Amino acid sequence: MKELAVFAPAKLNLTLDILCRREDGYHDLKMVMISVDLGDTLMVRLREDRKILVRVPGTDLPEGEDNLAGRAARIFFDETGSASGAEITIEKRIPAQAGMAGGSANAAAVLRALRTLLHPALTDRKLEAMGEQIGSDVPYCVRGGTALAEGRGERLTDWPPMPPCRIVVCKPEFGLPTPELFGRVRVEKLRTHPDHEALHAALLGKDLRAMAKLMVNVFEEVLTPQEAETIGDIKARLLRFGAAGAAMTGSGPTVFGLFEDETAARGAFDALKAVYPQTFLTRPAPEV
Ligand code: ATP
Repeated sequence: MKELAVFAPAKLNLTLDILCRREDGYHDLKMVMISVDLGDTLMVRLREDRKILVRVPGTDLPEGEDNLAGRAARIFFDETGSASGAEITIEKRIPAQAGMAGGSANAAAVLRALRTLLHPALTDRKLEAMGEQIGSDVPYCVRGGTALAEGRGERLTDWPPMPPCRIVVCKPEFGLPTPELFGRVRVEKLRTHPDHEALHAALLGKDLRAMAKLMVNVFEEVLTPQEAETIGDIKARLLRFGAAGAAMTGSGPTVFGLFEDETAARGAFDALKAVYPQTFLTRPAPEV
């Protein structure tokens, strides 16, 4: 086998908590993430020389090893002592700088594809460790499903899967640079923190209504009034259309709502799409 098509699901944060700022300048996080069936498709083709080429048609994303997908290929080949190269074509659907781990998802998909093509016996742990060298969210993206992530995001624990539901995802036009957002946080000033124990129980009980109400993202506390107005507007619309709960994902600005009811989700999708073009209707990715 010389080539493989792989799906790279986007992630959403059910929670995001910041516990402390560490000596090394990073923050200790505690967050629950899920994978959704909105994602990119990658074609990974082996080359006999050592070149790594990446193409992302229709975008100005970097090519070669500056792309996280290319960086993943380089790390995989170095770590496994392989003399191969790779040609990677990415069909992008995950919005950029959206808090949906688009780049990390691509890197993880490349690691999984290269394992299948070259080293099927490599363990998930080994692959997650390679992912950690690329970025904090990559180990989670290698694993997928519902998971608690701690440390910088690399310490993972599997959590009970999401109950079936529909998810409306809406990305407003502005961007929120992750480092700037971290810079705005004073941990001791945060007023609300997610109740992870209650969220775990709600997931175990497959109680969508309960779990949706427990979604908390502490970054929502440090938005400027203008940013907060847009995020608040999207949340209010989602809830008006019957979402069981709504929250911002990652470092934003994307907001999503969880729906039990398909018709209500479609109503919210249509209404939001008319105002915010980058609106998507999705569901939790099937867990393996
Ligand atoms: P996160 O949820 O991890 O904060 P994000 O949604 O904020 O991610 P991404 O869209 O993943 O941000 O991209 C972040 C940066 O990574 C961008 O500056 C982009 O140029 C770069 N990048 C490199 N490779 C990729 C890729 N394959 N797909 C998307 N972005 C990439």
